[in-house]
Amino acid sequence: MSITSEIRVRSGLAIHGGVGTISESRMSAELQAAYEEALAVSLLAGHEVLTGGGSAVDGVVAAICVMEDSPLFNAGCGSNLDERGVVTMDASLMRGEDRAAGAVAGVQTPRNPIRAAQLVLERSEHVLLIAEGAEAFCRDAGLPIEAAGYFVTERRLGDLERARQRKDERPNVLGDATPEGMSEHPSFRAGTVGAVARDSTGSLAAGTSTGGMANKAWGRVGDSPVIGAGTYASRRCAVSGTGWGERFIEHAVAYQIHARMDLTGVSLAEAVHAVVWDELAARVPKSGGLVAMDAEGNVELAFNTPGMYRGWIGENGQPHVDIYGGRG
Ligand code: ASP
Repeated sequence: MSITSEIRVRSGLAIHGGVGTISESRMSAELQAAYEEALAVSLLAGHEVLTGGGSAVDGVVAAICVMEDSPLFNAGCGSNLDERGVVTMDASLMRGEDRAAGAVAGVQTPRNPIRAAQLVLERSEHVLLIAEGAEAFCRDAGLPIEAAGYFVTERRLGDLERARQRKDERPNVLGDATPEGMSEHPSFRAGTVGAVARDSTGSLAAGTSTGGMANKAWGRVGDSPVIGAGTYASRRCAVSGTGWGERFIEHAVAYQIHARMDLTGVSLAEAVHAVVWDELAARVPKSGGLVAMDAEGNVELAFNTPGMYRGWIGENGQPHVDIYGGRG
């Protein structure tokens, strides 16, 4: 069986809305249509930026903002709540051309955390700002902020309640697989969002944004704002991941795709397969997925879970979206 998606674009994007999908048997036709619509709108927003001559970074930010603004996904409005019932969000953004990166962690106020990460990338000498310091930086720059209630949805309150009830089954932080795999756990019922893009000059970018896992410990930060774990971009490839953040950090998932390509000369598809299946799934079944693009415009959308909200778009502007069914 071929391990490549055989998708190739000159300029375009690939996005994900997280691997914590609602199981196929419980997904209603209406909700599935709403997810597919939101993914398509996100792809079209990124495509519009790219076809207007915008950079890969701007395309990634435009696509992610749509998903942050949608309550369907676990990022921005609709973020998961931590064990105190508070939304704290993480995001990161990286430009492949010069490997400039920006990230924020544990922020409670920026309406679009990915824009906060972009501010750090473009206007700060630092890469990662956290909590109140990050918020002050964003406020001073005039980034739109929201009150806590804006981010909270009924659905995520329900997810928090379910995760609290099953707290004793909380994922073992030492990394043992739960019998049914991480993707079945309520704390994983998430929809972290991410995007990778290649613009008309051939430059790559990647970004990721999340509310983290439901009922996460106060102060917990996952892989999404960690450059090299949840997000990485170079001249070789761009990667955005979703899944069990602790494991993604330990396996340096996003950087590892770049490193395998760079050091061993394997293709994007081979590097992605090795990391998502041979490493991650071998350690923890159903632990995550990612979207990735390389310098030639090859696109990979890979996951070891039952589903991943995902899509891609090329220069012709036709969005392709899907939720279930992966390649083995
Ligand atoms: N990776 C995210 C985290 O651990 C969760 C997710 O992708 O759904 O915070």
